[in-house]
Amino acid sequence: MTDDTIRAIAESFESAREVLVFAGSGLSAESGVPTFRGEDGLFSDEAIVELARAGILEREPKRALEWYEKGRRRIREVEPNPGHYALARLSQTADYTVATQNVDGLLERAADAESVELPVHHLHGSLDRICCRECGAEADASLDLSEMPTCEACGGLLRPDIVLFGELLPDEAFDASARAAASADVCLLLGTSGLVYPAAGLPERAAEAGAELIEINPNPTELSERCDTIVRGKTGETLPAIEAEMPSS
Ligand code: NAD
Ligand code: ZN
Repeated sequence: MTDDTIRAIAESFESAREVLVFAGSGLSAESGVPTFRGEDGLFSDEAIVELARAGILEREPKRALEWYEKGRRRIREVEPNPGHYALARLSQTADYTVATQNVDGLLERAADAESVELPVHHLHGSLDRICCRECGAEADASLDLSEMPTCEACGGLLRPDIVLFGELLPDEAFDASARAAASADVCLLLGTSGLVYPAAGLPERAAEAGAELIEINPNPTELSERCDTIVRGKTGETLPAIEAEMPSS
């Protein structure tokens, strides 16, 4: 990353009224949460690809729920990284909306620690919530999914409240993110491969509505060509560097 690019991004943030952050699993990589794609990505294992697809909870509930319960434990053990904290603090400089594909809750934990109110829309749900596979009722999040608990209301099997590949996105989160895309001055793409639709269509909407697209990712992505400014770096290093360039810091 060059200092000039970092300074230019800080200037864009400084003059922006509305910022849409489009976040992916790379934002949490430096917390020790593996991504799906990229180096050491979980998707190098075909069995894990299968666990992320719609239908797995019906076909192999025991194996899937054990895997997701392991993921739930893992995210409780890890901590937000410097990228999460810097983003939480930066969000005080303009009207920020976060549309995240992450299911880990780490950004909210950083925002809480910084005493910051940050609207985060979960396009792909949250691992820390569980719900009924049959009736959708929310259930006690402290239940152990690997024990295959059932719904108090209808007896259906409980599941993590996340969106598997092939399932529909929650309308509310997507609509709120699409509205933010339509009015953002800046759209910040953090640690996302841009391959998962319809979520990955949000930066395109923002660009069409006139937003500057800024990508922070160590690797080229499907959305790179569309971006106005690119930093080939890690979010855990780049976001604190941008924050340090903000005149207010
Ligand atoms: P992805 O796994 O497809 O791609 C990860 C991206 O992060 C890659 O482009 C990679 O170059 C980049 N990256 C890796 N380390 C980085 C770093 N330190 N800083 C910045 N970027 C870095 O991720 P995706 O685009 O979010 O899409 C995959 C799906 O995976 C999403 O639907 C999401 O729900 C799910 N997922 C979420 C988590 C999580 O919640 N932490 C983890 C794995 C997968
Ligand atoms: Zn139920």
